[in-house]
Amino acid sequence: MELLDKLDANLQGLRDKHLIRTRRTVDTPCGPRATVDGRELLAFCSNDYLGLAAHPAITAALREGTQLYGAGSGASHLISGHGRAHAVLEERLADFAGPHLVEARALYFSTGYMANLAVLTALAAGDSDTEIFSEALNHASLIDGARLARTTVKVYPHANVEALDELLGTSRAGNKIVVTDSVFSMDGNLAPLPELLALCEKHGAWLIVDDAHGFGTLGENGRGALEHFGLRSPYLVYVGTLGKAAGVAGAFVAAHATVIETLVQRARPYIFTTAAPPALAHALLTSLDIIAGSEGQDRRSHLARLVAQWHDGLRLTGWSALPSQTAIQPVVIGANDATMAAAAALYERGIWVGGIRPPTVPANSARLRVTLSAGHAEADVALLVDAINEVNAHMERSRDGT
Ligand SMILES: *Cc1c(COP(=O)(O)O)cnc(C)c1O
Repeated sequence: MELLDKLDANLQGLRDKHLIRTRRTVDTPCGPRATVDGRELLAFCSNDYLGLAAHPAITAALREGTQLYGAGSGASHLISGHGRAHAVLEERLADFAGPHLVEARALYFSTGYMANLAVLTALAAGDSDTEIFSEALNHASLIDGARLARTTVKVYPHANVEALDELLGTSRAGNKIVVTDSVFSMDGNLAPLPELLALCEKHGAWLIVDDAHGFGTLGENGRGALEHFGLRSPYLVYVGTLGKAAGVAGAFVAAHATVIETLVQRARPYIFTTAAPPALAHALLTSLDIIAGSEGQDRRSHLARLVAQWHDGLRLTGWSALPSQTAIQPVVIGANDATMAAAAALYERGIWVGGIRPPTVPANSARLRVTLSAGHAEADVALLVDAINEVNAHMERSRDGT
């Protein structure tokens, strides 16, 4: 069939460019050790930064949630799917983010992807008087949200505050929206949020902060990037995700109550989908207790020690480890085939690290994306560092032909 031939030709094009993606099926809960095809691997690729995805107190809360509320919600939030657990979680999340916002309210979403589509489409309101200013390294969900907002989108260069100031200064739009990741998902560095917020206040623009990788891990109490930088403003719209450091699933938007009411009334990715199982919201209450309590602080300190150990131990030639201080620790190799060969060599040694290629990262900057978790022991990171140093030395030697 001609149509299938076309698809096959496209897939072959991906294979030829070393861009084809494959999945591995994991038989064990998310954690430092994963069993894949009967082999035990030491895994450094999940976003379970605090090691909560299989935490006994959280899985027990999930079971309790199913006993209280069953399996499914049965409907969207605005019909009959909005349960007590969702409502309680939203109050807790509003309190959690509250110190950084004005008249805070929170809204729970099934995924961060949907939360980002919702925020951008609802704030832009399909309005010809709106302009979106989007950071060059933003996550795909923000890029898609900006497209779906059907308004002018200006992309500003990565972390370039002066360029954004210029763009905002020349904009004639009455409704300006700046949107950025807080921690860049493929680089691990932080956006200059204090400077961005100052610009937004100066130019009367919203600042949407996608804190997918900061929520739970940054700040004294794990409240994320806003706590890390000590920010508070009515211009802030905060998106936190709950499937990464929080170890469960979903996301939330926290902002001024009027913004949240706008989302409830207007955001199609909120309105036209079945509410997530209430048991997930119930389990997340326990995640929040852990994140905000002394156990969360201990886990964040342990993670910080692992990050230091990683940087101290690396001895790389040709490849470059980015200077990230977060759990995301990329090693840039450059070529797609060399990156996938490095990931395969690590896999042979029982170390599972993801290889990231374009279009997820810019061309010629393919990389290993190592993620550390509070679930890892120092001995795990020692094995990782030795394996990466060895694979690097071996590959660089064979490239030089020596
Ligand atoms: C993972 C991620 C999302 C999407 O969140 P999900 O809950 O996985 O859909 C959004 N933004 C960033 C920066 C992310 O890393």
